[in-house]
Amino acid sequence: MANNPPPPPHVVASPPITPPPRPEKRPIPPAFSSPSTTRFSPQKPMDSNPKDHPTQPAFSSPITRFSPQKPLDLNPKDQPIPHSLPSSATRFSPQNPIDSDLKDQPSSSMRSPYDNHKNPQDPSFLTPPRSSSETVPMTYRTSGKTDSPISQFNSPPAPPVFSSPLRPAAAPFSPSPALPQPRALLSSFNFAGSGGPSLPTSSLPIHSNGGTTELQTDALVNSNDSVLSGASPHVLFSAHKVLKQKKLGSIPSLGFSALVSPGGESPLGSSQTVQHAPHRCVNCGAYINLYSSIVPSSGEWKCIFCKNLNSSNGEYRAASREDLKNWPELSSPTVDYIDTGNKRPGFIPVSDSRMSAPIFLVIDESLDEAVLQHLQSSLHAFVDSLHPTTRIGVISYGKTVSVYDFSEASVASADLLPGNKSPTQDSLKALLYGTGIYLSPVHASLPVAHTIFSSLRPYNHNLPEVSRDRCLGTAVEVALAIIRGPTAEIPRGSVKRSGGNCRILVCAGGPNTYGPGSVPHSFGHPNYPYMEKRALKWMEHLGREARLCDTVVDILCAGTCPVRTQVLQPLAKSSGGVLVLHDDFGEAFGVNLQRASMRASGSHGMFEIRCSDGILVSRVIGPGEEAPSDAIETFKDDSSTCIQMLGVEETQSFAVSMETKSDIKDDHMLFQFAFRYSNIYQAEVSRVSTIRLPTTDNLSAYLASVQPEVATVLMAKKTLLLARTSSDALDMRVAVDERVKDIAVKFGSVPGKSKLHQFPKELSTLPENLFHLRRGPLLGSIIGHEDERSVLRNIFLNASFDLSLRMIAPRCLMHREGGTFEELPAYDLAMQSDAAVVLDHGTDVFIWLGAELATQEAKSAAALAACRTLAEELTEQRFPAPRILAFKEGSSQARYFVSRLIPAHKDPPYEQEARFPQLHTLSREQREKLKSSFLHFDDFSFCEWMRSLKLVPPEPS
Ligand SMILES: [Zn+2]
Repeated sequence: MANNPPPPPHVVASPPITPPPRPEKRPIPPAFSSPSTTRFSPQKPMDSNPKDHPTQPAFSSPITRFSPQKPLDLNPKDQPIPHSLPSSATRFSPQNPIDSDLKDQPSSSMRSPYDNHKNPQDPSFLTPPRSSSETVPMTYRTSGKTDSPISQFNSPPAPPVFSSPLRPAAAPFSPSPALPQPRALLSSFNFAGSGGPSLPTSSLPIHSNGGTTELQTDALVNSNDSVLSGASPHVLFSAHKVLKQKKLGSIPSLGFSALVSPGGESPLGSSQTVQHAPHRCVNCGAYINLYSSIVPSSGEWKCIFCKNLNSSNGEYRAASREDLKNWPELSSPTVDYIDTGNKRPGFIPVSDSRMSAPIFLVIDESLDEAVLQHLQSSLHAFVDSLHPTTRIGVISYGKTVSVYDFSEASVASADLLPGNKSPTQDSLKALLYGTGIYLSPVHASLPVAHTIFSSLRPYNHNLPEVSRDRCLGTAVEVALAIIRGPTAEIPRGSVKRSGGNCRILVCAGGPNTYGPGSVPHSFGHPNYPYMEKRALKWMEHLGREARLCDTVVDILCAGTCPVRTQVLQPLAKSSGGVLVLHDDFGEAFGVNLQRASMRASGSHGMFEIRCSDGILVSRVIGPGEEAPSDAIETFKDDSSTCIQMLGVEETQSFAVSMETKSDIKDDHMLFQFAFRYSNIYQAEVSRVSTIRLPTTDNLSAYLASVQPEVATVLMAKKTLLLARTSSDALDMRVAVDERVKDIAVKFGSVPGKSKLHQFPKELSTLPENLFHLRRGPLLGSIIGHEDERSVLRNIFLNASFDLSLRMIAPRCLMHREGGTFEELPAYDLAMQSDAAVVLDHGTDVFIWLGAELATQEAKSAAALAACRTLAEELTEQRFPAPRILAFKEGSSQARYFVSRLIPAHKDPPYEQEARFPQLHTLSREQREKLKSSFLHFDDFSFCEWMRSLKLVPPEPS
């Protein structure tokens, strides 16, 4: 047994009724806010005299004007610093995962997060030595984008250095995880050694069509199937071949589907840009593409789906076959059409123009002092990070809505509206036509913004967090009204603001309990079910209203008070925003506040799917809804599936399930995915990807073309869609078992005389990833509160491939001497006492420090610094940003880590070594020590689980 045995497993397995201990309480402000640590203190110390508290003045008119505090003395000398903040705090230091109760902590000392009460002043954890990894050569390094505004949230304490996996076979993931997502998608495919699809110069076939000669632009080399899919970084298929037999192709356990992402703002990879509206088939609406045939004499083109011959107004009248290459739309699988129209003549996209989209902060004012301090610190850092031309607005809400006015220079002053009802036309008019300035560019309003944040006061009544009045719904309504401005009477949509989407960022510490869209604070309220139903409806309606005025509502929650996510979720979702839960208003919240505001986002998005005749789109999962018929452009013979997108975010994706209608005769199936939206510069963008997949009637050729990771993600999305409640989640665990069994029975073999089915070896990584899925936070019982699972589920259903895969199966990287990292299977055998391990589980990243390593001060500090840097690098582009937790072996937090690893310590040694070959590198003594460090419990190992399903575990790949 180790010195500090992990808690008994039943603690992990049985979900407590109350939220689990929040491990990430940070007693000091997040260190990314280093510029603001000096700003953390401008507020006056709490005055116990309630007279000075600005809250809840009486109403005499629709709007009550007040100045919530005496003008601030801006002389910093006079300001007491509320808590001693180490000015040298780095991003690395603020968390303290051990103490879950802030109040118990002496605010004057920084405790090492990894040393439970033993060594409170140990500075080595706070300023990890830089030298540890600087001296070793970097073998794997992503480009740090130091000029990006995000970079100020990433001040790595040491340069990240990690090697390519020593055991590549154990890494079934994209080899370049730290790349931005679209490129990461790209990198998971082989480009057959070339930089992209290439055009053969002499093999273009010429077809004869009733006297006219057609040039087939069909240009891709077909020698490598992966080229076909890999050619579009935005489209990932579960297999690169289509089965001809309907009977096999439609076996639901494996299925055939695609993950399609709108992709980023700028064309990446092989996509090309065309500066006009796309040519579309007049009959069915399909887009011209590299598989269309062209009549060179007239420039006419033939639709690949309905075979209609369309005019190009002579554009593609080509002198020779060679010339066809000059049109990106005739040579590239993915094309961006950007149509600036005549709306903005002389339009030049200026990268700064996205910054002018207004951001409204809507802030919960019913927070306790310690919680509020975190929030204030994060808000100060946030406004400092914004571009000077960004317009910001600030609203706080409690029993009333306070709309802060930027016209007063050094005073935080606000207009008050009642929170118990939607704002009346009169009160809104008074606001909009008054002298107040409620949205103001950062360069003009920064000092006022800081004054406002400093003026926020803690909740001063004697009510528990959950019962406090919070008129969140009314506050968002008021923010929307101000964003709309006085032009609200003009029909919506006729006024286009420059700078694209607006954002409302709600910072909530508790449920909406007051005014429209609220629910009673007690579940025991006799009318609760009815009121909840009404609130859900109202919130969804408000979210739609927001979307109609190009406004995305993100709800960033924090703290231990349950926020009733089911009521808030519809508001975020129907506006195209997200709801994220945080342990506190500290680091992860601060990073997400910034990443939410930075997301490039289009509006009025439509997603169109067209396929060859034999294929039927059976389901689409993602951030959209079926488009109303009036939103679809009408073509006589349009058979496309059309989805109205709720937002256009590159970090999101759609899972498209398809079925074979009948046995397929053709050699190829064609798929066309089109995203149409207004980008942040108000130009109309159509991103069209056209992919052709070969068909096959050979089962093993089909299996060999399956992309197991993509297939896992698509299966998991289908499964999670049905896992609405915790009891659904239990059912879905069983469904995962059945699915794995069915795949083995239908596609696998029965080796020798065995009665067990062998899982097909082409899909060997699939069952292990699905095993992670059924144990992990999405379906398993390791998450303490159903609210949390439901929030993760919503994020997962819309997430990109990379984030989805990480949320299913964690990635395990062990720190090596010299600052490199070795990728290992996410098994508990990685918990070796002399090592540090990073586990990336998508929305959580854990850093585990072995007890033996922890005793060596300098060494463990260097390892932690390297792990921390790796964690930040891996998640630099991720939204929502994960929480990053670090803890020592045997600490109570270690269970967060243990519960996410596959328990393999009970497996026989030969099986362990086969699946976890790193064990070979351990000495006999180390093996013994590792073995004795585990507590036995009843959880299945992967092999045991497979055998319980009467299956032979697949050979390790
Ligand atoms: Zn057509």
